[in-house]
Amino acid sequence: MKFQEFKLHPQVAAGVSAAGYTTPTPIQLQAIPIVMEGRDVMGLAQTGTGKTAAFALPILHRLATAPRGKVRALIIAPTRELAEQINDSFRQLGKQTRLKSITVYGGVNVNPQIKQLKEGVEIVVACPGRLLDHMSQGTIDLSHLELLVLDEADQMFDMGFLPDIRRILKQLPAKRQTLLFSATMPPDIRALASDILVDPVTVQVGNTAPPVTVSHALYPVAQHLKTALLLELLKHTDTESVLVFTKTKHRAKRIGEQLEKAGYTAASLQGNLSQNRRQQALDGFRNGTFQILVATDIAARGIDVSQISHVINYDIPDTPEAYVHRIGRTGRAAKSGDAFTMVTAEDDQMVRTIEKKLGATLERRKVTGFDYTVAAPQKDQEFARPPRQPQPRRKTAAPKQAQPQTTGHKPAAAGTAQPHVRPAKPASAPAARHPRRAPRAR
Ligand code: AMP
Repeated sequence: MKFQEFKLHPQVAAGVSAAGYTTPTPIQLQAIPIVMEGRDVMGLAQTGTGKTAAFALPILHRLATAPRGKVRALIIAPTRELAEQINDSFRQLGKQTRLKSITVYGGVNVNPQIKQLKEGVEIVVACPGRLLDHMSQGTIDLSHLELLVLDEADQMFDMGFLPDIRRILKQLPAKRQTLLFSATMPPDIRALASDILVDPVTVQVGNTAPPVTVSHALYPVAQHLKTALLLELLKHTDTESVLVFTKTKHRAKRIGEQLEKAGYTAASLQGNLSQNRRQQALDGFRNGTFQILVATDIAARGIDVSQISHVINYDIPDTPEAYVHRIGRTGRAAKSGDAFTMVTAEDDQMVRTIEKKLGATLERRKVTGFDYTVAAPQKDQEFARPPRQPQPRRKTAAPKQAQPQTTGHKPAAAGTAQPHVRPAKPASAPAARHPRRAPRAR
């Protein structure tokens, strides 16, 4: 089946050709005709399946032929990055329609958003908080809304946005078409769907399975050797663009720094970064300035980098759903990718849960030549905080409740708090392969 068979508005069909899409993905095949019919849709699909175009194309098709200057389609997404990507898709696919699409999210100056809204736009891609601000300030008029999309609804739920979403929904015109996309269907999303969708058609791809093009492997390793193994994996793999996941922000930052020390162009993405810095890191990763991006699950939400060749889980995720989300970043659309997960003995239970979810046993691999026997430092301080400076003793006793808590610990000697890094030198020095050492996006 080809895109022509959808009989999209010629200006939209031109956008499809310009984007280089020839064959619709399964979610597009299912969703586009139904959305074009005007039906409500419950879409079970994760990022990487082509779901953005699955709703963007029929929306553009509908908006191409009617009034301009009013907000007619609203897309609500959990993160600024996802909002930007959706907006980019609308702009790319809808270029010839001359429909105007903007993003609306917090952490940036509100005035340009107000100005754009005043000038008149047809499509708004928003994050819930700032959208509510605009609604309460009266700086957005949604009375002409025809189409609403809630994208990555399960992520919005995870991030605590559901009350905001319900408040927004109360103020939208009841007569509208609603599309709800989610990778998973926790009970709260099921309840939301049954409240807001009218006689919906459910479209589903892959039943939350990761893309088939991804090959998975587990790398059993002791916790203290993970960084060394990561460097070894990078050394032996022909990697284009690598997304590394860690459990904590602190660890993401440290690993980003260590990869840079080892000669890679790397940035880390953590919740603490300003919007500007986040954007720098993301843009740098997208345009190849950074070969490696290290991120936590929250920070990496919605990242769409089509050319990601590898996802490396430095730490196993907390849930099988998070595994599928992370892996969804590689092997997107028609590309193939690899997903490596470092596991320690403590991860056994989660590995079993993930394998059950995938319906497959994951291959266990060992890196030949890597020394798995290096003992842990006496006290495993991998990524421990630096020791506190000893506080000068007080001469007079402080009142009881104000006394600092004493744990009986002596501050660790400076040496023991150093992260353990095996002095591994990449055989083909990565610095030579990526000679441009870009400024860090931190
Ligand atoms: P999404 O799931 O919307 O994040 O899309 C994942 C990636 O697939 C994006 O980079 C899209 O540009 C790309 N894509 C979407 N639809 C198609 C298609 N029909 N053919 C090729 N690539 C596509």
